[in-house]
Amino acid sequence: TVSIFWFRRDLRLEDNVTLYHALQSKYPVIPLFIFDTGILNSLPKNDPRVGFIHVSLQKINTKLNSVGSSLLIKKGATIDVWEQLFQEFDISAVFFNKDYEPYAIKRDLAIVALAKEHNTLCFSFKDQVIFEEKEITKSDGLSYTIYTPYKNKWLERYKSMAPLVEYDTQNHFSSFHKNHFDFPNLQQIGFEESNIKVQPHNLAQITNYHETRDFPAMDSTSYLSPHLRFGTVSIRKLVNWAVQKNDVFLSELIWREFFMQILFSFPKVVSHNFKSAYDGVQWRNNEEDFKRWCTGTTGYPMVDAGMRQLNETGYMHNRVRMVVASFLCKHLLINWQWGEAYFAEKLLDYDLSANVGNWQWAAGTGCDAAPYFRVFNPDIQLKKFDEKGIYIRKWITEFDLGYCEPMVDHTFARDRAIATYKAGILK
Ligand code: FAD
Repeated sequence: TVSIFWFRRDLRLEDNVTLYHALQSKYPVIPLFIFDTGILNSLPKNDPRVGFIHVSLQKINTKLNSVGSSLLIKKGATIDVWEQLFQEFDISAVFFNKDYEPYAIKRDLAIVALAKEHNTLCFSFKDQVIFEEKEITKSDGLSYTIYTPYKNKWLERYKSMAPLVEYDTQNHFSSFHKNHFDFPNLQQIGFEESNIKVQPHNLAQITNYHETRDFPAMDSTSYLSPHLRFGTVSIRKLVNWAVQKNDVFLSELIWREFFMQILFSFPKVVSHNFKSAYDGVQWRNNEEDFKRWCTGTTGYPMVDAGMRQLNETGYMHNRVRMVVASFLCKHLLINWQWGEAYFAEKLLDYDLSANVGNWQWAAGTGCDAAPYFRVFNPDIQLKKFDEKGIYIRKWITEFDLGYCEPMVDHTFARDRAIATYKAGILK
């Protein structure tokens, strides 16, 4: 008889809440990862995120080997894999950390139902956030849709709690099941190496974050986003650090939880405007314009540098993400969903709640969004945040040799955007 701990977006052995509980259970714990074809089948063979998952699992497996255990890796539709697992093992309990995305909620409910058919209990705990679901609500119990009061309540709750403890799994590693399952290489999973890689995060180097974070050439943000996405770092560790060192950085971690609770409470935001009053906005949705945006050939250096950084590295600086998103929705009048989908394809840190939340923010359709009449001027953004042109020259190598003309005049595009939004917003 065994317990099974199922890794998903929590790819670490340290300070992993549900793993900690699994290791206290009566039976030896088999650590499991499933390459879910429900997600993988739509990805290109060299998707760098699959490579990152694979490398992260390898690291976990090496540590498990040192205590005589190993990861069980499976590939398939999760429900089919679990059907097989119930045939293969005598499973006393299944453990996994909670996940709040609509796909994951549905998947997990199906697994809980299947486990019940096999008289097996599932246990799952909060791990990827400090406050989940509806833990931070207004006094009437409704979800916050404005960030600042949410943040204030978040901080108030945080300060009133006992300090966050990190879960000491290490002392219980002897509870892992002793086995030696084969660890497949990327090709055996049906994927190939990509030359785009997740870079290590640089948390220790960001003490001046509040002063430098908006300047893309300074490269001074943490690069934590893919690590938070896949759980290779623990949010408790980061929050404990941020509380002591940098309030502005802490605020960004709270933005992450703000958008997560928005997605949980208003799952329609994935495919609909949060503010339905904006449903009447007549997007131009011009395919040629979209192509120029995607390829970084709009003639606006801040936009083009950002898109090229994204295409080449799977990452884009936050300030530049705001500029390119505003440009797509407002200058080009292309529905935010097109941009959201493109980012979802390319970003190493792609996270449904953050991506949808920020895209709707930029488009003006989201909760607590940028007002529709605020249209970033990409050239002013460039002057403010990359005055010497260091960032743009890094990504636009032909910049000084003859770079393309702007595809649309800023003043014309701004006026058109404001008029179009104004006409479309339902009173
Ligand atoms: P840092 O500045 O070091 O921030 C630390 C952490 O705080 C980040 O890793 C992230 O987890 C969180 N964070 C920071 N800013 C935000 C924010 N605005 N919203 C939510 N969380 C935030 N972030 C994603 O993780 N995944 C996405 O798919 C994503 N899509 C975005 C789309 C658009 C149009 C915009 C404008 C922003 C998007 N962001 C997304 C938010 C932000 O740009 C990235 O989190 C950040 O650039 C990642 O770099 P970093 O880890 O160095 O950030």
